[in-house]
Amino acid sequence: MLDRYKEANLLTWHSNIPENEIWIKLGGDHGRNSLKLALQIANTAHPNSKRNTIVIAMVHARDTHTNIERLFTNIHLQEQLTALQNHQWQGKSVRVILNGDYEFLTKVFGLSGAAGTFPCLWCLIKRQDINNSTTAHKASPRTLETLRADYNTFSHTYRQNKKDAAFSHNSIHAPLLDISLPNVSPPYLHILLGVVKKHHELLEQAAHSIDESLCQLTEDQLTDLGKLVKQYGGEWKTKQDMEEKLTLVKSCVTLSDTAEQKLTYSKEAEKLEIRIGSLEPQALKLRSGPIAHSLDSILEKQNSSSELP
Ligand SMILES: [Zn+2]
Repeated sequence: MLDRYKEANLLTWHSNIPENEIWIKLGGDHGRNSLKLALQIANTAHPNSKRNTIVIAMVHARDTHTNIERLFTNIHLQEQLTALQNHQWQGKSVRVILNGDYEFLTKVFGLSGAAGTFPCLWCLIKRQDINNSTTAHKASPRTLETLRADYNTFSHTYRQNKKDAAFSHNSIHAPLLDISLPNVSPPYLHILLGVVKKHHELLEQAAHSIDESLCQLTEDQLTDLGKLVKQYGGEWKTKQDMEEKLTLVKSCVTLSDTAEQKLTYSKEAEKLEIRIGSLEPQALKLRSGPIAHSLDSILEKQNSSSELP
């Protein structure tokens, strides 16, 4: 495989890859009812491109620990990885990096998952302390050896009772692969999506508080829109839309060619006026105020302006 890349002069060394190393990423992915394993050579211009992704195994099965273990055993994955890691290519050594989503990674290393008392694959931070930066820095790192020792404790001392998983730092299976933890790549995209989601939620909250404080202002401090929100709360948009429709229908009455048309539009206008008149104010819920409402269009504009021409 490497020779093919070399012939076509495709190998590239990114700044973080030492000159005497070839990095090969082994990725696990679950989707559309199948579990896939793929290899990518990182020393290429576009390491994540489809053309650089070679699927090495695929099974139509859920990504349970048992299925992952069975797949790895059936294709002799560890033996193949050992051979790959011991392989030299033109004087360069091969380093295998494991990636995948967090659930997959925790399963490969035998942890009970992100909901456990000790959810981190790389250190022994407790879940309740994750947001505390002082404690987070002090958490001792995990290694393949500590994972194996913890699993041993779980097996022997706690007789594999999952209720006691926390006493063995949530190691409930032996690690399935001999890849050291510094060579396990955190799921960058998922983490980024999580941060963006959190940021968006905070932004919505902030916009909502501005919307709420808007309703506390006096009439003379408010624009027409502000007055509308103060009067109708969460129903301001309904009121605005209905008023717009009424204006349209009224102009249709004026512009009607026949008496029949005029009558139809007049009746519709009448109905609308009754509905507007009976509109009850509602409490301003999250995302329903005018500022929060315009967030989406602001973000959309941001998104299109950040795209490359
Ligand atoms: Zn950690």
